[in-house]
Amino acid sequence: MQPYGIHWFRRDLRIAGNSALKWNWRKTQGKTLGIFFLDSKFLARPDFSHHRFGFFLQTLKTLKNELKEMGGDLIVLDRPPKEGFEWLFSKLRPKLPAYLSFNRDYEPFARERDALIQQSLSDQVQIHTERDHLVIEPHELRKEISDNSFYQVYTPFSKKWFSLLQSEIIQERIQIQQEAIQYLEKRAQGQIIPPFFQITWSQLLPNDLLQDSLDAYIHQNKYDLTFEIPQAGSLAAYQKAKSFLLKVDRYLETRDYPYAQGNSQLSVYLKNGSMTPAILIKLFELSSVDFKQKTGRSQFLKELIWREFYYHIIYNRPRVENESFLPQYKNLRWENREDWFQAWQEGKTGYPIVDAGMRELKTTGLMHNRVRMIVASFLTKDLLIDWRWGEKHFMNHLLDGDLAANNGGWQWAASTGSDPQPYFRIFNPTLQAEKFDPQGHYIRQFLPELETVSTEGIHSLTNYLPPIVDHSTQKQKAIALYQSHKKR
Ligand SMILES: Cc1cc2nc3c(=O)[nH]c(=O)nc-3n(C[C@H](O)[C@H](O)[C@H](O)COP(=O)(O)OP(=O)(O)OC[C@H]3O[C@@H](n4cnc5c(N)ncnc54)[C@H](O)[C@@H]3O)c2cc1C
Repeated sequence: MQPYGIHWFRRDLRIAGNSALKWNWRKTQGKTLGIFFLDSKFLARPDFSHHRFGFFLQTLKTLKNELKEMGGDLIVLDRPPKEGFEWLFSKLRPKLPAYLSFNRDYEPFARERDALIQQSLSDQVQIHTERDHLVIEPHELRKEISDNSFYQVYTPFSKKWFSLLQSEIIQERIQIQQEAIQYLEKRAQGQIIPPFFQITWSQLLPNDLLQDSLDAYIHQNKYDLTFEIPQAGSLAAYQKAKSFLLKVDRYLETRDYPYAQGNSQLSVYLKNGSMTPAILIKLFELSSVDFKQKTGRSQFLKELIWREFYYHIIYNRPRVENESFLPQYKNLRWENREDWFQAWQEGKTGYPIVDAGMRELKTTGLMHNRVRMIVASFLTKDLLIDWRWGEKHFMNHLLDGDLAANNGGWQWAASTGSDPQPYFRIFNPTLQAEKFDPQGHYIRQFLPELETVSTEGIHSLTNYLPPIVDHSTQKQKAIALYQSHKKR
């Protein structure tokens, strides 16, 4: 039998421009099979969300169908990766794969898992990994190569990142995405693409062993869904990106207004790899933006760089997963009042913009970036509740919930992070609402009880639930709390 390979899908759920899958496909001339391990322990994780999981499962389903259409295959096994590979190899023996490929991941848990797999399988199969999820990996962007230190502040990081983007090696990564775009465009237009994979699992294993768990998981999970999840998969992601192409030039003016629909809404697709920043950079021709000019495109690129920045932070300082980046705020004495936390979670704080955001999260699994900043600031600075409580609540509800970006966003708002909002600059929720939702369109969308309130009265705290705290009093308390820790 001719050599064949296995590609282990994780958070790279697409064919288009998938770096490690492509490497495998070339090596085997199309004889590459896909595998995904669905570890049931995953469902018990404290950061689990049924809706995000539902979106992930639908993405896997779309990928499986696409691979089949292209002559390939994907099996979803209900086993943890190490045990799953051991089981699979025992069944495949003596027809073991020649190659195992996967794309690199940067989260602490994933790095440990991948090291274990490398260790346990490298004597049985040639393992190959690639960069895919990020444009520039943490080891490629250091302050000084000699002392190996990393950037902790966004602006110098972004400048260095942009200069590296122009380098020959990184431009190769970007220009090659034209192939991915052509493939996606053909699919979007419904053109017939001749199959390019040459192997299916049933050519290697008998049917009774090919117990794919995907449909069972989809079936089980659907009972826990309380709202419709967005269209999943790389084609849906591509279409979303194309529709944002029509809006990107106005992004600078619209991005901060939660009712304006001026953002890309691509975060859910970037999270699981249905889309990548490299494809977006090529599609939007972002390599050639004038980085110093404030334009829609340059701002969009800067947001994609924020995403990479937080991955670099978590890679270089994995401990931020559990504690503040700034050591002086590690043991801040939060008040952590359960009743206030509950009011925040339910969107009943008495501050309309905060409550609208929290109800958007609960009913859609999403929240506009400006509102994420407002509610996170409110939880930490007005309610004096530990940012980790808010971070976890977000993970339990967000469709785009992502360890690096969520942790980065929370630590930014709590002033404990790598390049945070200064602790004395505290968002006033009413002023934020007046500035970014002046007519109250967003507030009314999510707070039906304020539907009939006039624009003049929409930001007044007297037309709504009594506020659980007074902003000015809490602001002074927060500043004193941070100052007391700063002195230590
Ligand atoms: C407290 C808090 C928690 C957050 N949690 C998450 C999270 O779990 N997952 C997540 O993807 N983003 C998170 N963000 C960042 C940001 O809010 C979302 O990425 C954005 O709202 C997604 O909408 P969009 O795709 O329309 O963004 P756009 O405005 O269109 O931006 C394009 C892309 O850039 C990236 N991006 C934009 N802003 C940021 C940022 N501040 N940090 C990191 N990446 C960014 C995202 O990948 C986004 O899809 C959080 C921000 C805050 C303040």
